[in-house]
Amino acid sequence: MGAGLAVAVGSIAIVAVSVGSPGKWDPQQLEQGAAAEKPKLELAEQARAAAAVIEKRKEAIKAENAAIDAVLQQTPIISQAGPENKEVALTFDDGPSTYTPGILDTLKKYHASATFFTLGNQIAEFPLPLQRAVAEGHTVANHTWDHQDLTQLRPKEIRGELTEANDAVTGRNLPEPKLFRPPYGAVNDLIVAEARRAGMLTVMWSLDTNDYELPTPEAMAAQVLAEVHPGAIILMHDGGGDRTTTSVALPMMIKGLRKAGYKMVTVPQLLLDNPPAAEQYTGQRTPVA
Ligand SMILES: [Zn+2]
Repeated sequence: MGAGLAVAVGSIAIVAVSVGSPGKWDPQQLEQGAAAEKPKLELAEQARAAAAVIEKRKEAIKAENAAIDAVLQQTPIISQAGPENKEVALTFDDGPSTYTPGILDTLKKYHASATFFTLGNQIAEFPLPLQRAVAEGHTVANHTWDHQDLTQLRPKEIRGELTEANDAVTGRNLPEPKLFRPPYGAVNDLIVAEARRAGMLTVMWSLDTNDYELPTPEAMAAQVLAEVHPGAIILMHDGGGDRTTTSVALPMMIKGLRKAGYKMVTVPQLLLDNPPAAEQYTGQRTPVA
């Protein structure tokens, strides 16, 4: 169906150009015009795919949101889930970016699910990977509008960072994020309370891959396998810099985790299967990076 549509639009473009500019028949220009239409079509197709998945997962999403709300009744912030099942959550911050499609390819190839803590201001430039992530069963979460250190902002500004990021996601007809991660891991009572007021659980991590320090892919995968534990929330990045190491390490990491008996699920699924302990938050955390 996608190819048929592309041909049809191509034909329309040819007609329009030939009528509008008589005597200027430029096949190369026509070809470029058709190529420019392609991302738009891809975006529309991906949006339809995402909408279909959201519709199909309506009940599952309701259950996930209920699980998040149940955790919020106990605690506004978590860094890991419970230890009941051998499950972990792979999480990616600072996207969507040029690295996100490759990461989605790897997740698809190895049938692993993940959670993407996205920046609102990246979404206009990279809407396709965001929609694709939802269409392929991953969770899209909030990492603020533009990655400011929220501990330096006033309450009103914090609220703006949270709501603008969620609006960028829902503006693409995707489910409103219920999970939030503060930039730099910099958090205090006010930020956690504002996230909670917006209906969001603050999600930190229990395993830092240190991928921003650019270790080798092998070292990164080995570190994860050495430190992994049931209920772990694993911090990685799909934007904000060169993410080649993360991209290359990911298949090794997934294979190793699976070999060790771990299932890779989204954060909401992890909360459903492994309810976290109530008390994890110990006060203000200073920026880590
Ligand atoms: Zn970040």
